[in-house]
Amino acid sequence: MAERVLPNEPALDREDEAADALVEQLRGEVRAAGLWAPHVPPEAGGTGTGFLDYAYLNEHIGRSMWGQRVFGCQAPDAGNAEILHMFGTDDQKERWLQPLVGGQIRSFFSMTEPEVPGSDPTTLRTRAVRDGDDWVIDGHKWFSSGAEGAAFGIVMAVTDPDADPHGRATQIIVPADTPGVDIVRPIVVMGHAGKGWSTHCEVRYTGVRVPVSNTLGAKGAGFLIAQKRLGPGRIHHVMRWLGQMQRAFELMCTYALGRETSSGPLSGKQTIQNWIADSYAEIQACRLMTLDAAHKIDGGDEARVEVSAIKFFAAQVLVDVIDRAVQVHGARGLTDETPLASMLMQARGGRIYDGPDEVHRQVVAKRILKAFANGEGWDFA
Ligand SMILES: Cc1cc2nc3c(=O)[nH]c(=O)nc-3n(C[C@H](O)[C@H](O)[C@H](O)COP(=O)(O)OP(=O)(O)OC[C@H]3O[C@@H](n4cnc5c(N)ncnc54)[C@H](O)[C@@H]3O)c2cc1C
Repeated sequence: MAERVLPNEPALDREDEAADALVEQLRGEVRAAGLWAPHVPPEAGGTGTGFLDYAYLNEHIGRSMWGQRVFGCQAPDAGNAEILHMFGTDDQKERWLQPLVGGQIRSFFSMTEPEVPGSDPTTLRTRAVRDGDDWVIDGHKWFSSGAEGAAFGIVMAVTDPDADPHGRATQIIVPADTPGVDIVRPIVVMGHAGKGWSTHCEVRYTGVRVPVSNTLGAKGAGFLIAQKRLGPGRIHHVMRWLGQMQRAFELMCTYALGRETSSGPLSGKQTIQNWIADSYAEIQACRLMTLDAAHKIDGGDEARVEVSAIKFFAAQVLVDVIDRAVQVHGARGLTDETPLASMLMQARGGRIYDGPDEVHRQVVAKRILKAFANGEGWDFA
C-alpha cells in the first residue's frame, strides 16, 4: 500500500484509461504477491484465511479508496461474492462467482429505491412475478453502486407481498444485458459522478425476464441473506475506515509539527493538541470496539449490538478525524495537494449507507433495553 498504491493515487483518481491500465498492473502485482481476493477462501478463488485475518488486512487496504479495488475485494463485489459463495448453486458459482472473484467481471447490489425509505426495506416496491420458469421484474432502484459496466446485479425484489414483512423479498441474479435493464445514470454524489466501479447508479427494471434458476438462496430469503451480507460487511467497512482515520491522523500530526507560525509550530497550540488527543482516543476506541465485535462474530455470535454500535460510532469518528486534519491544513486541506478533501467527501456517506446512524442507535438501545426488561441487564464483557 505504502510503496505502490498511495503514491499512485493521483493517477488513479483521474479515472481515465491510463488509470484503468494502472489498476490492472497493480492487480497483477497483488496476484503475484499471493494477496488477491482476501475476502473469500481458496475454494472460492481467493486467498482468504478467515474473517479476522481479513478484518486486520482491511485496516491497511482501507488507507486508500483504491486499495479494495487493487486487492480484488471492492464493495459491492466482495459482499456479492460472499453471498454467492454461501447461498449460490453450483451453476451460479460457475457462471457468476468464479469470474467475479477472478476480477474478470464486476457486479452491483440493487436494493435501495428512491420512492421508499432504504432504512426500512420492508417497504420495497420492486416486484418479481413468476411466469412459467421465469421471474419478470419491474421496479426502480438507485444507489446501485458500480452498476455502470457491471456484468450482473443482485436485485432485491418482492416476490410474496402477503408474507410477513421479512419474508416478502427474494434476491435474484440479473445479467446487466437482459432486455429491460436500464442503467439510467450515474448519480452525482457530492459533486462526483464517478466512472464504472465508482458510480452509484439509478436503474430501472421494466419487464425484465430471468430464469427462476437465478434465484439466490430460497424464495423469500432476501432479508436473511441481506443480513448475512451486512453484518460481517459492516466490520469490513469499519476496518477500512480505521485505515482512513489513521492516515488522516498521521497527516494531521505531521503537518502540525511542520507548519510554523510566529509563535512556534502549530503542534504547540493547545487546540490542536486537543484534536490530536481526542482523535487518538476515538480511533483507538473504534479499533478496540471493532476487534471486539469481530472476535464475537468469529466465535459464531451475530454481535448485533456490537456491530451496530461500531457502525454509527466509527462513521462519526471518521468524519470528525478527517475534518480536524483538514482544519489543521487550512486552505491546503481543501485542495487536491493532500488526499484529505477526497477522503472527507467519501467519509460522509458512511453515516448513511448500510443503515443510517439513527437506525443503528435504535438497534443498540432497543436490544439493551430488552435485556434489562427481561431482567438480564447488559454484560459488557
Ligand atoms: C455512497 C452510498 C452507496 C450506496 N450503495 C448502495 C448499493 O450499492 N446498493 C443499495 O441498494 N443501496 C446503496 N446505498 C443506499 C443506502 O443503503 C441507503 O441510502 C440507506 O439504506 C438509507 O436509505 P435512504 O437513503 O432511503 O434514507 P431513508 O431511509 O429515507 O432515511 C432518511 C433519513 O431519515 C432518518 N431515519 C431513517 N430511519 C430512522 C429511524 N428509524 N429513526 C430516526 N431517524 C431515521 C435518518 O437520518 C436517515 O438518514 C448507498 C448509499 C450511499 C450513500
